[in-house]
Amino acid sequence: MITTVLLVTATLVAPATQDTLSRGLKDSLSVAARRVLADVRFLADDRQEGRGVGTAGLGRAGAYIWDGFARAGLQTSFQDFTVPPDAPAVLHTTLGGTATRNVVAILPGASPALRGEVVVIGAHYDHLGLGGFGAMDPDSTGRVHNGADDNASGTAALLEIARLLAHRHPARTVVFVAFSGEELGTLGSSYFVQHPVPQPVDSIYAMLNLDMVGRLRGARLLALGAATAKEFPSLLDSLNSGGHVRFDLRASGDGWGPSDHSVFFAARRPVLHFFTDLHEDYHRSTDDWDKINAGGIAQVAQFVADLAWALATRPGPLTFVDAPRPPATAGGSGYGAYLGTIPDMTGSPGGVRITGVRAGSPAEQAGLTAGDVITAIGAKVVANLFDMTDALRSHQAGDTVVIVVQRAGAEQRLTAVLGKRAS
Ligand SMILES: [Zn+2]
Repeated sequence: MITTVLLVTATLVAPATQDTLSRGLKDSLSVAARRVLADVRFLADDRQEGRGVGTAGLGRAGAYIWDGFARAGLQTSFQDFTVPPDAPAVLHTTLGGTATRNVVAILPGASPALRGEVVVIGAHYDHLGLGGFGAMDPDSTGRVHNGADDNASGTAALLEIARLLAHRHPARTVVFVAFSGEELGTLGSSYFVQHPVPQPVDSIYAMLNLDMVGRLRGARLLALGAATAKEFPSLLDSLNSGGHVRFDLRASGDGWGPSDHSVFFAARRPVLHFFTDLHEDYHRSTDDWDKINAGGIAQVAQFVADLAWALATRPGPLTFVDAPRPPATAGGSGYGAYLGTIPDMTGSPGGVRITGVRAGSPAEQAGLTAGDVITAIGAKVVANLFDMTDALRSHQAGDTVVIVVQRAGAEQRLTAVLGKRAS
């Protein structure tokens, strides 16, 4: 996932509960969980060099994914492209013109009437390499950033979904894509939308994105973009109540977000982004495989496979619902002041609820605490995460600001000395 609005963040690690599962499913999931964990461990191994664009490690990861798709029985190919030198994030790097590739696998639709429509399931497989641009911990530049959650987890889920669906016969075509260049500004998904395989972009029925699904806690799963098709909320609800797995599912929001689905949403396709929420290892060298909930990834994979199946077989179109692009979110990493809160990514009415603060952060020193709802920073009213990002961008490190929060029904005014961002 890209560092944009997420700069204001990080979270806590707690074991996931799996007590919502039947015993028979627990047994079969443990097999799936072992497969998923093997994939995460390969992709997030130090040998893969943090899967930075242009590295041999990313090349090995791509070959591994190709192999996984092909072994599942799918028609598999590489989609080669070069990093555009003028992309905003690329300007911070020396990677312009570097060759890289998406990995694409196709499950052809069985219905002559519907096979021209495509359900795309995607996950990016690149990460930050040795840190530097995009990383939250500048002191770790030169250390391998393994990106086990971001996004070996989504890639492993994608491979598992491919295995679950490869021998079935959906009416619509299903296309699996592992994207490169996401951390440099959704480059692989942008290339794919400009050069879609095997059909034009208008034929894409829906796009399902898996980015950071490796830290399932308390069965809490976010399905962002649920407002991009009128049919999504009830479809997600019925799958969650009648399907294999029961999540504490938070389905909400438009299709703008800091990951590959937003590129498809910009092309006016319905999208969903599955996400097990942020944590304190986000974009740090500590995002490692031993903190991954592999059983949780397997559960998410099963759920998204069931959803993809429902989408690929249901009669009739989806009703796309557009939303205006939010202001000031593109290419926004690296400026503005640092507070160190951990926002609740599902949102809260009338402000930004926080689920915690980073140790030693300005937020902690100011006395902010889990459960506070931030309603203003300095002179700026904060109604949502975008306002909060804007407010922090309008300040510099060292500024003293009053932060207004709602706590236990009362308004509190706290004073924070803002810090400096990591990148
Ligand atoms: Zn990321």
